[in-house]
This record gives sequence, structure tokens and C-alpha cells, in this order.
Amino acid sequence: MTNKQQTIELLPCPFCGEAPILASGYNIEGAYISCTNQECCCMPQSDATATSNSDGSLNIDEAIGEVIEAWNTRATDKHLPALVEALEEISRWADRNYTQRLGDIAKKTLAALPPELRNN
Ligand SMILES: [Zn+2]
Repeated sequence: MTNKQQTIELLPCPFCGEAPILASGYNIEGAYISCTNQECCCMPQSDATATSNSDGSLNIDEAIGEVIEAWNTRATDKHLPALVEALEEISRWADRNYTQRLGDIAKKTLAALPPELRNN
């Protein structure tokens, strides 16, 4: 198995927080990143199959790039801004309509998020 020097940092396993391993090479025809913590509830793995270069060799570097992007993309990256916007709208609506309990729930949820995610 080829061990490639990686310059892009891998995010920890989303389920257990442990550092994952990256493996790549011709014998696996691409690359994969996997959690190897035996106590992890999910032990997730991302795979990328290498495409063939014009000379018939496998493009392992491209597969490594793909698998790193897949592993480092989290569902929350894409969906969190829309969720924050919806909570802020609920909060404003509740304020206008004197629905204090609903507004309190939305504000409490927003307050639990990191400040950089909030719009105001
Ligand atoms: Zn894990």
C-alpha cells in the first residue's frame, strides 16, 4: 500500500472524534478514509475509486483529493445556514405575534450555536 504525504488536514470522525486514517494505492484502486476506533458506534468510511489516466495508469492523486473532500464534508456544513435562518425567522415571528414561549425556544436554540453561525 502506498503511503502518500497528506497536506490537507482530515476532520476527526463525526461520531467518536478520533483521527481517521487515509489509505491509497493501486492495490485498492483508489483511496479511502476510515475511522479505526474499535469503540466507535459507526466506524464510517469514505471511498473513492481512481479513474484511469490516458496511459492506462490509475489517477490515485485524484482519488485522494475526492476522498478527502468527501470525508471533510459534513451534512451540517450545507444545511446549518438554512436552519439558522429559519430559527431567526421563527424568533422574529414569535416576537411580532407575542408568542413568547416559541420565541424563547428559538432564541435558546440560536444561543446554543457558535456565534460565527448566527446572522445577528
Ligand atoms: Zn469513529
